[in-house]
Amino acid sequence: MERTLSIIKPDATSRNITGKVNAMIEEAGLRIVAQKRLQLTAAQAEEFYAEHKDKAFFTSMIEQMISAPVVVQILEADNAIALYRKIMGATNPAIAEEGTIRKTFALSIDKNTVHGSDSPESAKREINFFFSNIEIVG
Ligand code: ADP
Ligand code: MG
Repeated sequence: MERTLSIIKPDATSRNITGKVNAMIEEAGLRIVAQKRLQLTAAQAEEFYAEHKDKAFFTSMIEQMISAPVVVQILEADNAIALYRKIMGATNPAIAEEGTIRKTFALSIDKNTVHGSDSPESAKREINFFFSNIEIVG
């Protein structure tokens, strides 16, 4: 079993579609083993997305991530990291495959509904960023 970190982003919490996103996650065979709703501060969002700090979109992306609450989750499955990236769909929803979360719900590249870890190293870092061991019950 592998674990990945998911974020249901502000564009989704503000549209009240977190349950619809969770239904797609569960239908794909991923188990939500931890979950909480948070309002990120700018400092928290900047630290979480530090790898992107030199990108042109960084400031607007941080503003978007703190514009409403997020739901952070740990998802578990065999190959959870790759499986979740597959059902999320491409970063830009305009080119995401039919049936993916982003194709179904995302509004634009900067309002693209979900985050998912992109490697075992980032999954470990991102899970530890948001969760302590006692919050993960399996
Ligand atoms: P992903 O979320 O698919 O792993 P990245 O890690 O490359 O994508 O980017 C992180 C987030 O930054 C994206 O999900 C998206 O919200 C935002 N982003 C990426 N590229 C752009 C862009 N060109 N313009 C605006 N926002 C972007
Ligand atoms: Mg990424």
